[in-house]
Amino acid sequence: MNKLAGCFYPGTGPRTPQPTQVAVMLIDLDRFKVINDTLGHAIGDRLLQEVAQRLTGCLREGDTVARLGGDEFMLLLPGVEHTKSTIKIVQKILETFKSPFYFNDHELHITTSIGIALYPDDGEDAQTLLKNADTALHRAKEQGRNNYQFYTSTMNATALERLSLEGKLRHALEREEFVVYYQPQVSLSTGQIVGMEALVRWRHPDLGLIPPMKFIPLAEETGLIIPLGFWVLRTACAQNKAWQKAGYPPLRVAVNLSTRLFKQQTFIQVVAQTLHETGLDPDYLELELTEGIIMENIETTITTLKELKKMGVHISVDDFGTGYSSLAYLKRFPIDTLKIDRSFVLDITTDPDDAMIAMLIINVAHHLKLRVIAEGVETKEQLAFLRSHGCDEIQGYLFSRPLPAEEFVRLLQERRTLTD
Ligand code: C2E
Ligand code: MG
Ligand code: MG
Repeated sequence: MNKLAGCFYPGTGPRTPQPTQVAVMLIDLDRFKVINDTLGHAIGDRLLQEVAQRLTGCLREGDTVARLGGDEFMLLLPGVEHTKSTIKIVQKILETFKSPFYFNDHELHITTSIGIALYPDDGEDAQTLLKNADTALHRAKEQGRNNYQFYTSTMNATALERLSLEGKLRHALEREEFVVYYQPQVSLSTGQIVGMEALVRWRHPDLGLIPPMKFIPLAEETGLIIPLGFWVLRTACAQNKAWQKAGYPPLRVAVNLSTRLFKQQTFIQVVAQTLHETGLDPDYLELELTEGIIMENIETTITTLKELKKMGVHISVDDFGTGYSSLAYLKRFPIDTLKIDRSFVLDITTDPDDAMIAMLIINVAHHLKLRVIAEGVETKEQLAFLRSHGCDEIQGYLFSRPLPAEEFVRLLQERRTLTD
């Protein structure tokens, strides 16, 4: 099978022939391996035979079904006029799998994932079409199985972009392409800057400034987050100490922690060493953890947090309200600060639910004798709401965006304060 082109323009009648498409579908049985492993290969084989029969039952004359190997089937459907008719067939397939399979005394419920590529849009030869159908199949599996995905060109673009970013990311640290930006945190009682959050950026020579959301997940996956995270910690501590030495009023610097970094056996040791080497007083370092990290392994978290507290480091819970913190546990964690997530602050003055959540977080924090800071404050109305409900501090574009160190220092020189 090479070129699929040629024969898919049916009829040569008086009307202009309508180009039709060919659908290439890859069908994979979800969790087939489990069945094979637990019930044995004999049942696995019979299941595959029945699956082939059910698939054949969904097809029209002229369609082809083939087993590619393992639990993967391919369907070749020529003459589908548009996407809609392909979807109809896909739905028929998913529907036919809804009834269980019976073997001996076993009732098996099987679901499938389906990836679809269409000739000629998604490829003009068999190889490209199969490759693209496979990309779509992977996406369908990622989306939680038991569904189908049509191939889109962005799927490849995303995969390629990831691949090339990953290569570049590996060199970025040694090429000193990372920079730390600082965003001020302001006290609502005095209007003064009391702290700052360290936010990493990747300054790529060709791609420009890349935001953390684009590379932190990749850094997590590849393990690069460990050297990167320790580098951010060291840079932020050293910078903070340098500003103190230069005579500016001492500020607390908050550093974000990723799960992998926090789980490192040497984590406590590295924090202690960083403080020692940079000479920063632990009182001026705050570590930001998300609810996810904290709730993952509660007992270990408590032990690690207690050690950090013993050293004199502060702890805050980032993006509070978006995860699943249990209030009962919150009491047991030695934390200092809750950060109200930006998503609640965004509509705080228009959405009563968000307003209620923000008020609740402020109340819970104060009840537990914790400091509370709102992030993503962009308007005076949001500020007024937070102030009137007793929020302690804010961070957001209203006061300042995150800034490179050389610009942040100007805020300190000007002794900029929050004015209403
Ligand atoms: P985060 O810790 O919740 O940081 C706050 C994010 O909100 C920052 O995005 C900040 O630029 C943005 N922000 C602050 N004020 C406003 C505002 O008024 N409006 C809007 N629309 N946004 C505002 P950024 O810098 O893109 O960082 C995104 C996330 O990346 C951070 O969320 C944090 O989870 C992660 N991150 C950043 N630096 C590091 C790092 O060094 N290590 C790790 N593990 N994660 C980091
Ligand atoms: Mg943060
Ligand atoms: Mg946050």
